[in-house]
Amino acid sequence: MNRGKKIVILSHCIINQNSVVKPYAKNGKDFLPFITWCLSNNIGIIQLPCPETGILGLRRWGHVKDQFENSNFINSSIKYLEPFIDIIQDYLKEEYQILGIFGIKGSPSCGISKTCRADWCGEASSYESINDISSRVKMVDEKGVFMEKFEELLKQKNISIPFIDIDDWRIEND
Ligand code: SF4
Repeated sequence: MNRGKKIVILSHCIINQNSVVKPYAKNGKDFLPFITWCLSNNIGIIQLPCPETGILGLRRWGHVKDQFENSNFINSSIKYLEPFIDIIQDYLKEEYQILGIFGIKGSPSCGISKTCRADWCGEASSYESINDISSRVKMVDEKGVFMEKFEELLKQKNISIPFIDIDDWRIEND
């Protein structure tokens, strides 16, 4: 039987680094061991949309979680995620396994174990210097807004799937 009945769900940029805020794009080959592991084990891949590109476009500045904790970003995230909740429910009903939801450590949207926070707002020119701006950023042990909402939507349906930062994936997880 060719249907592996196993699936992973990925943050969009894991297989499309073109969506990442400049200048942070990695070489796509960085993810090759993970993708190879999926394909060679007959594990299906579902790619989530990139909320930041969808909401703010490709010319966006880098942001922190505090800036995304607003109604528009949250409601848009929910709108992006709802069809995936339906698809997940359908697969689970048919006894497929969802092995994990893979995100990006430190992202204000897709971070799993860590995200970035800062009290940023307003014109960049109102800060003393770039150092003043960047020194305000702190990594905290929370999910980014998009993954936080994803987890909440799944909980509402009593669905539990492991959330894992792609950086923390190891081949021995096989
Ligand atoms: S919002 Fe998520 S998918 Fe988009 S670039 Fe950032 S981490 Fe990747």
